[in-house]
Amino acid sequence: MRHMIELRELTKRYGPTLAVDRLSFEVQPGVVTGFLGPNGAGKSTTMRMMLGLHRPTSGEALIGGRPYDRIRRPLHHVGAVLDADAAHPGRTAFTHLACLARSNGIARVRVTEALDRVGLTSVAHKRVGGFSLGMKQRLGIAGALLGDPAVIVLDEPVNGLDAAGIRWIRSTLRALAAEGRTVLLSSHLMSEMALTVDRVLIIGKGRLIEDTSVAEMRARFERDVLVRTPRTDELVPLLRGMGAAVTRTDEGDLVAVGVDAAAIGDAAAAAAIPIHGLTPRSATLEDVYLQMTDEAVEYRAATMEKELV
Ligand code: ADP
Repeated sequence: MRHMIELRELTKRYGPTLAVDRLSFEVQPGVVTGFLGPNGAGKSTTMRMMLGLHRPTSGEALIGGRPYDRIRRPLHHVGAVLDADAAHPGRTAFTHLACLARSNGIARVRVTEALDRVGLTSVAHKRVGGFSLGMKQRLGIAGALLGDPAVIVLDEPVNGLDAAGIRWIRSTLRALAAEGRTVLLSSHLMSEMALTVDRVLIIGKGRLIEDTSVAEMRARFERDVLVRTPRTDELVPLLRGMGAAVTRTDEGDLVAVGVDAAAIGDAAAAAAIPIHGLTPRSATLEDVYLQMTDEAVEYRAATMEKELV
C-alpha cells in the first residue's frame, strides 16, 4: 500500500502568471509532510494538478508512479480534502458519505468505519449545514478515508480551526502516517505546522525554496548563546580566543556567536570562571520561515499593487 508522490518539473501557467515553476520533489510514505508557502505561492494549484483537477502546462505529478487520471479506482489510492465546505448542507453526514461510497463502488460498511474513525458517529444523522468548521473538516477527512487510500492530500486543513480541532488533526494525521500512508498537507503558516509535520517542502513564487525536516530547520538556525557570568572581563578574551564574536547586552550578559554552549561551559570550567547562565537561542521556526519566503511575499505585494492600479 506504500505510495509516493513525485513531481517532475511540474509547471502551470495561467496567462502571464507562472503559478507553478518547474517544481520537483518527492513525498514519502510513513511521515507527515507539510507543503508550505505564502498565499499565492502555488500550493493549491500544485495539489490540484496532483489530483488531476488541473492539467500541467508541462512536467508531471505522479502518485504511485502514475498520473492521477491513469489510476484505476482512484479513491482507493488517494484521498483528498481541498475544500472542507464541499458537502451539501441539506444532507446528513451519513448520506453524504454513503453517496460518495456508492458512486465510487465502495462498500457501505466503510461509511460507518470512516465516521467512527473521525469521531462523528454520534452526529452521523445530523445535517451537515449545522456542522461547525471542525466537524466539516472531520467529515472531509472521513470522505478521504472511505477507500482506505495509501495517499492523503489536504489543502489548508487547520485554517480557521480552534485549538481542539488542530490537536485532533495533528494526532489523526500522525496516526495515518504511522500506518504507512503518505500524508501531505498545505499551510501558509509555519506555526501551525511545527508540531504536526516531520518534513517541510517550502515554496515561493511557484518554486521550491526548501526540502528539509523540521528538526534540521531548527538546528540550522540556532543563532547565538547568551552567557551570564560575574567575571565577564575574564570570559570575553577566552571566548574571543576560541573564535567567537562576543557582544554585551544592556543587562551585562554576553552574547556569543560562533561557539556552542557546551564549548563555552567547558572552557569556563577549565579556567575556573563561574557561569550563572548559559542559554542557546534559536530563531523561531516562524522567523526562519518568514525569512525564507520574504522575497516571495514582497514580490507578491508588488504584483498585487500593480494589479490594483
Ligand atoms: P496558494 O494555494 O499557495 O495560495 P495558488 O495556487 O492558489 O496559491 O495560486 C498561485 C498563483 O496562481 C497566484 O498568483 C494565483 O493568483 C494564480 N492562480 C491560481 N488559480 C488561478 C486561475 N484559475 N486562473 C488564473 N490565475 C490563477
